Amino acid sequence: MTMQRHQYDVVIVGAGGAGLMAALYATKKGAKTAVLSKLYPTRSHTGAAQGGIGAALGNLEEDHPEWHTFDTVKGSDYLGDQDAIEFMCYQAPAIVYELEHMGLPFSRTPDGRIAQRPFGGHTNNRTGKPVRRACYAADRTGHMILQTLYQQSIKHNVTFFNEFQVLDLILVNGKVAGVVAIDIATGTIHVFHTKAVVFATGGWGRLWEITSNAYTLTGDGAAILFRRGLPLEDMEFYQFHPTGIYKLGILITEGVRGEGGVLINDKGERFMERYAPTVKDLASRDVVSRAIYIEIKEGRGINGQRYVYLDVRPETVNKYAAIDGRTRPDGSPYVVTAEELLQKLPDIIDFSRTYLGIDPMAEPIPVQPTAHYAMGGIPTNIKAEVLADEKGTVVPGLYAAGETACVSVHGANRLGTNSLLDIVVFGKQAGIHAAEYALGTDFEPLPKDAADFAISQLETLRNSKGSERIADIANEMKRVMMDHVGVFRTEEGLTEALNTIRELKERYKHIHLDDRGKIFNTELLSAWELGNLLDLAEVTTVSALARTESRGAHWREDYPKRDDKNWLKHTLAWKRENGEIELRYKPVVITKYPPKERVY
Ligand SMILES: Cc1cc2nc3c(=O)[nH]c(=O)nc-3n(C[C@H](O)[C@H](O)[C@H](O)COP(=O)(O)OP(=O)(O)OC[C@H]3O[C@@H](n4cnc5c(N)ncnc54)[C@H](O)[C@@H]3O)c2cc1C
Repeated sequence: MTMQRHQYDVVIVGAGGAGLMAALYATKKGAKTAVLSKLYPTRSHTGAAQGGIGAALGNLEEDHPEWHTFDTVKGSDYLGDQDAIEFMCYQAPAIVYELEHMGLPFSRTPDGRIAQRPFGGHTNNRTGKPVRRACYAADRTGHMILQTLYQQSIKHNVTFFNEFQVLDLILVNGKVAGVVAIDIATGTIHVFHTKAVVFATGGWGRLWEITSNAYTLTGDGAAILFRRGLPLEDMEFYQFHPTGIYKLGILITEGVRGEGGVLINDKGERFMERYAPTVKDLASRDVVSRAIYIEIKEGRGINGQRYVYLDVRPETVNKYAAIDGRTRPDGSPYVVTAEELLQKLPDIIDFSRTYLGIDPMAEPIPVQPTAHYAMGGIPTNIKAEVLADEKGTVVPGLYAAGETACVSVHGANRLGTNSLLDIVVFGKQAGIHAAEYALGTDFEPLPKDAADFAISQLETLRNSKGSERIADIANEMKRVMMDHVGVFRTEEGLTEALNTIRELKERYKHIHLDDRGKIFNTELLSAWELGNLLDLAEVTTVSALARTESRGAHWREDYPKRDDKNWLKHTLAWKRENGEIELRYKPVVITKYPPKERVY
């Protein structure tokens, strides 16, 4: 196999919001930096984010970083590390202004300040009512963040290797020495000799059948580190967003409910009143997703089907705004027109027309919960350094940021708008600290066989003589994850899922590929990605089976209570040499807010 070598101080894997922010800062610090991305940067999933980025700017009403901190702790069901949460929420206003100064075209208030809207779980801590904290650029906030950061990266001469897929991490004496990647267009293997690596590879929503996540979200970074003997944290906590388009999973942003949209069952009831009397449709996502499932289970899905309605027709919005006593910032009653909604939610209206043939200004949108966001992932500290164990031992030169990392600011459940915030805050930390580390250390010698493991993984797949199809294995995995490792879980279901996943891992050893070539062999790379998903499916299920309590997004029907006495702790999972998964635990960092029952 042809091979090429490169040398950089810092290598960033991934060009979403987290990777680009890291790249910008590492480059600005003077480190010779390369970004490797399997996608052209502006195709990263960050570009699909719609609703907003959370920051207590207080542009429209009173708000404080401390309220944002408390809401995030509460939303996390007290599993988030409070030192990290406080750091993120206090950094938020400055980093949003930094994005604004880079040129990000935020939507504006009439007097020219950054516009803000309400989002689930974000509240005025005195009244408990929703607060306008989500800064947005219509319903294309992520798109604008990604484009802005990419333009800045070009301006600052960041080096990109686009459509390079990273397959392995090289550690020498426990320190980072490099990564191995394949150039997708040619099939050439590239070894990057480096002092520091930042993994910013995003999430793994393709584990589930109904998902809001792009095809490329296959957890590559997390799976690579897991295979290299590093732990993954809190993998049992995976968020289902309440409002995916029925059957398709495509996301309808929470911003729709922020603008006044309500969820309605078959009886025409606004059922969230019963589940969260104060914030109603703007309760946190785990609460709303469970409520929808219960409505469906109890026969109140629309026409008895597995969906409910999200109603954002102006007359409905205005009716419930009047009932809630909602006002505009100037104190006048909240009354919207179709034109105003169209201006604030253009893409959502467009999606509904394109994918459903529905005009949301005239008809309600059929929705069901959709797999959305990984709270767990590669354990890191506030400096984005990757941790090797429950004692907080740092892996020299290794960093992670964004959805693939677990700092942990989201604990058991993430609040909307807090991921875009997380990626820019901790992407920046990763860039700064990776560059500082790299500029103060020497290269580790790169072993001669550095690329062997990566090559052997691909060659095993390419030359496999079996008859199994990767699509069949993937479909079976997605179905079992959806049925048993989704919004509701039980010991019986999780055990069944685990057995199936292990069978699928066996079948995976006997696949058949049609394309054995080198050029753009996307079939081969899809097969490699499926291997990552299967590893992550197993570790998610093992972690979920062990946790005999319900907290945030992890809901065990057989253990329906949160159990702080036994389970106020983070899970760490390792893959041992014999292939078994070992679980250990570490305490949650609690500074100001001792755990309380969550009431919305
Ligand atoms: C539809 C949708 C809407 C959302 N809306 C919001 C919102 O309104 N507010 C909010 O806060 N959050 C939102 N989120 C969540 C948020 O957008 C994501 O969590 C966040 O953007 C992830 O950013 P990231 O930089 O970590 O990863 P991504 O943006 O997913 O980027 C991952 C990068 O890693 C690269 N990569 C992956 N594997 C490899 C590999 N093996 N080799 C090389 N490169 C690799 C990819 O090419 C890509 O560049 C939304 C998510 C979705 C799916």
